[in-house]
Amino acid sequence: MLAAAELPAPAILVLEQSDERGPFDTDVVAGLRTTINTRPIGPVTIYVENLNLDRFAGAAYERSLQGHLLVKYEDRPIALIIALGPMALEYVSRWHALLWPKAPVVFGLVDEQTATRLANNIQDSTGRTLQLSFADMITAARSIVPGLGEVAILGDPLDKQPLFKHFADQKLPKLMGLNVIDLTGMPMNDLLARVAVLPSDSAILFTSIKSDGSGTFYAPVDAFSFIAAKANRPIIVAVETFVGRGGTGGFVVIPFRVGAEVAQLALEVLNGKSISNIPISKSNATKFIFDSGELQRWNVDNSLLPRESEIRFNTPTLWKQYWWQITLVGMVIVFQATLIAGVLIEHRRRRVAELQARQQILEIAHMNRHATAGELSATITHELFQPLTAILSNAEAAELIVNSPSPDIAEIRNIVADIKRDDRRAAGIITRMRDLLKKDTTKTQEIDLNETLAEVFSLLLPQAVACNVSFVTKLSPERPRVIGDRVQLQQVILNLVANSLDAFEEVIGGQRQVTGYTIQFGDNRVHVCITDTGPGILNSKLCKIFESFYTTKKTGMGMGLSISPKIIESHGGQIRAANRPGGGAEFRFSLPLAPETRE
Ligand code: ADP
Repeated sequence: MLAAAELPAPAILVLEQSDERGPFDTDVVAGLRTTINTRPIGPVTIYVENLNLDRFAGAAYERSLQGHLLVKYEDRPIALIIALGPMALEYVSRWHALLWPKAPVVFGLVDEQTATRLANNIQDSTGRTLQLSFADMITAARSIVPGLGEVAILGDPLDKQPLFKHFADQKLPKLMGLNVIDLTGMPMNDLLARVAVLPSDSAILFTSIKSDGSGTFYAPVDAFSFIAAKANRPIIVAVETFVGRGGTGGFVVIPFRVGAEVAQLALEVLNGKSISNIPISKSNATKFIFDSGELQRWNVDNSLLPRESEIRFNTPTLWKQYWWQITLVGMVIVFQATLIAGVLIEHRRRRVAELQARQQILEIAHMNRHATAGELSATITHELFQPLTAILSNAEAAELIVNSPSPDIAEIRNIVADIKRDDRRAAGIITRMRDLLKKDTTKTQEIDLNETLAEVFSLLLPQAVACNVSFVTKLSPERPRVIGDRVQLQQVILNLVANSLDAFEEVIGGQRQVTGYTIQFGDNRVHVCITDTGPGILNSKLCKIFESFYTTKKTGMGMGLSISPKIIESHGGQIRAANRPGGGAEFRFSLPLAPETRE
């Protein structure tokens, strides 16, 4: 004898009457497999055959099926047959003795009548019977439509639907005082038109549609979807799979449970229990189930639903489900928004402050130039007098020559040329002063630093002469150019040179010289350097001189050097002060060269 482990796994053949692989049948088989697979003493092979009997019938088809199954399972001993549906059981009752004479039969999804009639024909058989009732459907319909007056019955002709066969006798609804609108066996198009205009006190009782009055076959779930899309009244359904697909609900068959119940019986038989000791029993695979969305749609008072009803898809609102996550996210968003707003306000404030500061620098720079001009005014007046006096005396000389009996034209021409030259000189002085005193409007342009430096030296030359200081300029032959504001850079140089001149005020004798350099380095920068041979700056004060209002002069303002770093930095440069080893001060600033002049 073989040990249990060496015995081949027993095989179950499941015969489904339909050919549908719709959700209902899938769930039945899933329930069946899940339960069979719990068998503790080892695996079981499960074969599933869809006999397609609700679409194809007749002796010839049955014979062809028989031949097919005979050949297919010739070498596969079948330990047990499961017949699902009354037609499948009919088939088994006819062919069992020939095909599987020794295999016991367990059935499910069969109405009581068919079960009792056929079970006697099959030697070893048992199963679960299912009876749907009109009363349960009407109970469901009444709870959905409290003033229910009419019921529209939909489906294949009732006498062709074993599970609903007894519905054909419509006494019950009538007894319950309801008007029956019989829409069974209609062509789909007519049906769709009718379900859209049902009376307002009606509900639809949906049985099952596998083929319509025009002979078209449907997967029941598809037929149901068409109806649900058009129906103007709630639909009471009889199977769980229509709830959630547009069915309002009802006392429904739960396919997974159907499969599980049948499988349970099969396991008992496989485990050795005598089938004659297992009586046919009623299925418990039914329950009142409703779709919460549909209940809301029809304004149903849930307290009117049958007791122990299950309400499906009652998805709580997002807020109920995720309130703390939403609160948290909300708080984070508010926090972030506040932060961003704060940063933006701060950014704006800074910009305003920067603009104000810049404006102030410009104002101060302007004041500073006025002060410089004030200091220079005596010298400038003196400077202007020279060309003006020369013009006057030349004009008087010309007048004398013109009034003479034989005027010397060549001489007059020379005098006029002198007048023009002196006039230009005076005009040049005035233009330079006007440029310097112009109110600032920042104007970025390319600047030749050699020119700018030379201009400052020439502007201050009269003062230098008055102070007995000599000016020297050593300009870079590369003519360094920078991008920036000409007036502002000129002002920095002017302050530095004017300071150097001032430094000689207390000094008597010695070398008195101020030198201006422009030096172009290979680092794409130009250095401007103003040195003097004056007394220099106290080392301890070297860092103080750039502070605002620091001055050692009686009439000084202490503003010139404090604005210089700001101007130079805004041009991308730096300024430094130092004492020269041989005496005197040195101020040096560097600026980036204009791009096209770079090496
Ligand atoms: P102000 O010229 O009104 O005093 P500045 O800011 O231009 O204001 O100069 C600040 C101070 O720096 C001067 O008062 C002076 O003491 C010192 N200083 C600037 N340049 C020189 C220099 N070339 N030699 C000596 N001291 C200088």
